[in-house]
Amino acid sequence: MSTDSPRAIPNTLTIAGMDPSGGAGILADVKAMSALGAYACAVVAALTAQNTQAVTDISPVNAQFVRAQIDTLFADVEIHAVKIGMLGQTGVIEVVADRLGHYKPPHLVLDPVMVAKSGDLLLEQKAVGALREQLLPLATIITPNLPEAGVLLEMRSVETVREMRRVAERLRNLMTHGGHRWVLLKGGHLPGNDTIDVLHDGDKMIELPGHRIPTRNTHGTGCTLSAALTALLPQMDSVIDATRAAKEYLVAAIASADMLKVGQGHGPVHH
Ligand code: PLP
Repeated sequence: MSTDSPRAIPNTLTIAGMDPSGGAGILADVKAMSALGAYACAVVAALTAQNTQAVTDISPVNAQFVRAQIDTLFADVEIHAVKIGMLGQTGVIEVVADRLGHYKPPHLVLDPVMVAKSGDLLLEQKAVGALREQLLPLATIITPNLPEAGVLLEMRSVETVREMRRVAERLRNLMTHGGHRWVLLKGGHLPGNDTIDVLHDGDKMIELPGHRIPTRNTHGTGCTLSAALTALLPQMDSVIDATRAAKEYLVAAIASADMLKVGQGHGPVHH
């Protein structure tokens, strides 16, 4: 926690989609936040019917009801860090941007969720512009994977670490220039067995290397990492330390994923 607050346990909030299988979305976020010593609140921004194999249906949540959930919560609870995950639709993005622009939480992690591992679209295509123009400027840190970075920058796929560094710079340029803002560009989609994530603040370029863990149970890895970061940012002194610790948490969660027997497809990681 920052020194200006005497509280030991930060209040964190995820504004995201509901995955009933518990591997991704709000349920994954709440598990990660709780495991990492934060108190978790959740605003439901989209509903999905899904299991470990597919997203079979999506039902939007009315934007005015998303607004009501956020306003009611902030009227009562001091929120120390917010994570944004699946919002699904332009109207919801606009409401979330408006309310968070008003409440200005100390830490805002934006996971620009667009496509599920199953290939199903989680964000309307026409909503990408609203996400880029209204939410990116508010974020403390954004956590795109390589396909999401490609969509945000309207560019072809990224295949090398060198290209990743350039992409991280271009993404950082889309964010607000004042204040300390970060890009965590996740390289899990790079070819090969070594993985790398790149953390960039417009000045420092930090590479976080890793090895691919042999498991097909990787459902919700992106949600888990961004939620872990949201829990840790208020508890650690720097974004770099919080990111390293969040990544460590995710690696352990993937490494023990095969202990779970949940579904026939890409199962969840183990919190
Ligand atoms: N469902 C919801 C509600 C999500 O927020 C996400 C990811 O962010 C997914 C599904 C997709 O998770 P994955 O791509 O890990 O399967």
